[in-house]
Amino acid sequence: MQFDYESLPWYRKIHWVNALFLIGTPLGAAIFTPLYIHHHGFGWQAAVLFLGYCSFSSMSITAGYHRYFAHRSYDCHPAVKFLYLMFGAAAFQGSALQWCTDHRRHHSFVDTDKDPHNIREGFIYAHVGWLFFKEHPRYHNRYVPDLAKDPMVQWQHKYFVPIAIVMGFGFPTFVGFLMGNAGAGLVFGGLLRVVATNHSTFLINSLAHTLGTRPYNESQTARDSVVMAVLAYGEGYHNFHHQFASDYRNGIRWYHWDPTKWLIRLMSLFGFTYGLKSAAPSEILKAKMRADQLRLEKQGVPSERLTAMKTRVEEAQQRWRELKEDYRRLRRNVQIQSQEKLLHLKADIRVAKLEFKMAWRQWCAYRRILRGLPAIA
Ligand SMILES: [Zn+2]
Ligand SMILES: [Zn+2]
Repeated sequence: MQFDYESLPWYRKIHWVNALFLIGTPLGAAIFTPLYIHHHGFGWQAAVLFLGYCSFSSMSITAGYHRYFAHRSYDCHPAVKFLYLMFGAAAFQGSALQWCTDHRRHHSFVDTDKDPHNIREGFIYAHVGWLFFKEHPRYHNRYVPDLAKDPMVQWQHKYFVPIAIVMGFGFPTFVGFLMGNAGAGLVFGGLLRVVATNHSTFLINSLAHTLGTRPYNESQTARDSVVMAVLAYGEGYHNFHHQFASDYRNGIRWYHWDPTKWLIRLMSLFGFTYGLKSAAPSEILKAKMRADQLRLEKQGVPSERLTAMKTRVEEAQQRWRELKEDYRRLRRNVQIQSQEKLLHLKADIRVAKLEFKMAWRQWCAYRRILRGLPAIA
């Protein structure tokens, strides 16, 4: 008779390799880092190797494993893809194939039993506990048919362990050697950096589902927080990310701390990344107002009033957008370009912008209720 995992939801097999690694690396770092500092001091090489390689390997996870492989939020040059796979392996978070299987499952089944790091099972479980157990065979390589066909991804998956050891420990030791300090490379660029990189990513599964606000969708636990954005190279705007997963950005405003977005944008200037996907501003606004409306209705604001205001904002935004598009089209077409018509359109755009701003201000006046303030009608 075949063993039925489904009938025994409490049954889980321990993943001994993961368990030993996840306990061994912080323990090793806690022993060897102070020991190294005691004997050799803490020089600039150690700081550069730690911070530099932290950024390299963590951003190969955020820009590579996460936003490129898991969400396909942009396309990139094969050389960039190769570097993502090499430096992503240095983070010791599994192959891109395995990582994306887990991550796509997380997005599809967030906060349910099928979510591999379901936050409802506790902070520690979502942070690191889930990695101590073997994946259920039914999820093996599911959700990643596109990646399973990719020979470069398959190659990294097949040789993951040797690649991870060479890139995770060999490479920083070699760079340390070139800088005149191989030991600093091994301890700070290798061991301590692996622990920091791991827990920076793990925080996205735990803290980003616990701390912060939910401006786009309150029905799931993912949250937006600047603290998380700083700790995880821009991955802290997690409520937005769960709502618009195929957007290459996590922080949508220019001032949002999102180094991963800036890296992808910077590479696009040189043609290394292209086809960057971003959600339509109208859709982002709609999601934000939908979430606001649900919260305001709970505070007793009549649904009809909110729906009328929301429609006014959406219509004003649409008119503004359409006029801007008309203007652009007319300017492009030099043959039938008419200076007078362009001027009229410009004036119409200004009026439409003003109307949108007024409608939005009215909405924001009601949002004051959410902060415990009276609405300004
Ligand atoms: Zn999440
Ligand atoms: Zn994601």
